[in-house]
Amino acid sequence: MISRNKSEELFKKAKTLFPGGVNSPVRAFNSVDGAPLFIKKGDGPNIWDEDNNKFIDFCCSWGPLILGHNPRNVREAIVDSLQNGTSFGAPTKLENELGELILTNNPYLDKIRFVSSGTEAVMSGIRLARGYTKRDKIVKFDGCYHGHADSLLVKAGSGLATLGTSSSAGVPESFSKETIVLPLNDMEAVLKCIEEYKDQIATIIIEPIPANNGLLLQEKEYLEFLRTVCTENNILLFFDEVISGFRVAFGGAAEYYGIKPDIVTYGKIIGGGLPVGAYGASDEIMACISPLGDVYQAGTLSGNPVAMSAGIAQISACLTPNFYEDQQKRTEYFTGMINAYAKENNYLFEMVSIGSIFWMTFGKHDAIRAASQINPASMGDFKNLYSNLLNSGIYVGPSGYEVGFVSAAHTEPVLKEAAGKFCKALDDTFKVV
Ligand SMILES: *Cc1c(COP(=O)(O)O)cnc(C)c1O
Repeated sequence: MISRNKSEELFKKAKTLFPGGVNSPVRAFNSVDGAPLFIKKGDGPNIWDEDNNKFIDFCCSWGPLILGHNPRNVREAIVDSLQNGTSFGAPTKLENELGELILTNNPYLDKIRFVSSGTEAVMSGIRLARGYTKRDKIVKFDGCYHGHADSLLVKAGSGLATLGTSSSAGVPESFSKETIVLPLNDMEAVLKCIEEYKDQIATIIIEPIPANNGLLLQEKEYLEFLRTVCTENNILLFFDEVISGFRVAFGGAAEYYGIKPDIVTYGKIIGGGLPVGAYGASDEIMACISPLGDVYQAGTLSGNPVAMSAGIAQISACLTPNFYEDQQKRTEYFTGMINAYAKENNYLFEMVSIGSIFWMTFGKHDAIRAASQINPASMGDFKNLYSNLLNSGIYVGPSGYEVGFVSAAHTEPVLKEAAGKFCKALDDTFKVV
């Protein structure tokens, strides 16, 4: 058992300062055992906690760190930029650089606007969709997360009601009535909804690779279907690519599947580990944004020069030839070793993956494409596995609904070592003695 004495002490203190001791809820370790680990350092594929335990990290700050921890090129870019100050509230050359880097390598967008988080990007993109279409209702899917803006903290209504109900206290029911929540992977549900609300729907928003509630991989035909019905009904197709952007391809899931969305949001990887989000669309749609148009959106720290520098350094590295093929190959090498071992030992465990994103599944099941297909009992298995993973030196996000990430710093030797540790944790969890 790893020692958590220092983390426990720090958590005790943190609870006197922050609600639940954390500044973002999933960090609290509520669905696994023990105090959250307080991390003091990261380097490449590794992190160290305050008790000096070393882990191979597959959380990677929940996705942003596609080059691993503290990569030299990003660190040096940040330090260089810092020499000139941290913020001006005036345009900088660095915004042009990051903007151009993204737009010249992305066939789907004409213009982009930088903000400071994924939540802010999606919230602004929704306002833009409503302002452009002059319609109020939006459609989202059960099992997709889009940050914590009011109109997206909405879950499916009960029974036959298609209008949502709020999934968080503090969100007025009158707001959530403007959000329709549908199951993923269900064309009928989309068609019925469009028939009923046809001229009221501004946008259909989806994580094209849903990766915040398990990894609910959608079939390409389904995403193409969404594209078609949106076009036919003058509804904007909104790809929330805060996780998938720069992760499965430079141009995200849009490029991976070859489907053109009308509005796209980015976050996580785009900021090189610093807080950056972005939304983008065609010239025509983006012309609605202030100061050109009448959809208001602003930010004191938007396009922050230090964050722009980090983003430029990180996503430039993603443009090296074969970067994404290599990420996927190493990820499959890792998941392949673990899946083979689980099968050999008749453990009901399987990793599913796309690009360099993976998810752990438990029990017998078909392809899981909708939130309702996730067996809640599998979270008990996850909880048991989690302690064993930590004790073996593997760190993943502390929830069975979260995915893991492989970075460029997770080289084959690192992944081989990690798979060995992982398989030992599977033994500790599942082996009948
Ligand atoms: C992480 C995430 C968000 C929210 O981004 P924050 O930076 O945490 O506000 C929104 N949408 C998706 C798809 C995400 O993965």
